[in-house]
Amino acid sequence: MGKSIIKVNQLHKSYQMGTNSLHVLKGIDMDIREGEMVSIMGSSGSGKSTLLNIIGILDNYDKGEYYLNDILIQKMNEKKAAQFRNKYIGFIFQSFNLISFKNAIENVALPLYYQGVPRKKRNQMALEYLDRLGLKDWAEHTPAELSGGQKQRIAIARALISKPKVILADEPTGALDTQTSYEVMDILKEVNKSGITVIIVTHEHDISEMTHRVIRLTDGLIGSNIKNGIHQPTITITNN
Ligand code: ADP
Ligand code: MG
Repeated sequence: MGKSIIKVNQLHKSYQMGTNSLHVLKGIDMDIREGEMVSIMGSSGSGKSTLLNIIGILDNYDKGEYYLNDILIQKMNEKKAAQFRNKYIGFIFQSFNLISFKNAIENVALPLYYQGVPRKKRNQMALEYLDRLGLKDWAEHTPAELSGGQKQRIAIARALISKPKVILADEPTGALDTQTSYEVMDILKEVNKSGITVIIVTHEHDISEMTHRVIRLTDGLIGSNIKNGIHQPTITITNN
């Protein structure tokens, strides 16, 4: 197995709401290796999105350490966070998060726009990625004219265009029917085979079964580590 790409030590995160504090992550330990395809499972509200957003540098954590590609990721300004995201991370969401008034090419090309790639070059690259995902004929269409599966494939193309090391997918099949879900998972498997680390948050067992390793999140802690359907010794249980 490859080197560590995502390493999390004793990670804590609380949300403050007025005088109340909600302790969501209570000492998470996790080590994901380059080239792995991992799922993170847990019931609704268990902190899956919170954890994924911290890994994707969309949110800060309170305590602990997070290393991305051996670099300590700590409270950083938005500009620096965006640079790291651009270099390492591609995001895929349940609700696709496409821009409704832009066509498929423009949506896929968006990360390159933020990198300052000239329009002609970025549109040409976007078309290549759309072609790879079987959507060349839909390049000029807006999201409203596309099916859920097509929209998610556009979102995958957009995530891939900046050549990330890691794809983070938050319930990527949550809004799709079973067959379309499996098609999207087949694409993510291919993405993983190309060498990209893939982390999928899901609460669906059939989806998590398609990954190499399942990490369980229960009550803000990592529970048992399941590989090939066999329970491995628990990685960490921290009580507080
Ligand atoms: P999951 O993705 O596993 O369903 P989340 O990470 O979205 O869980 O949420 C974990 C808990 O934190 C939930 O109780 C949720 O209501 C709460 N939460 C999430 N985001 C915020 C926020 N921005 N402010 C306050 N509470 C939040
Ligand atoms: Mg969530």
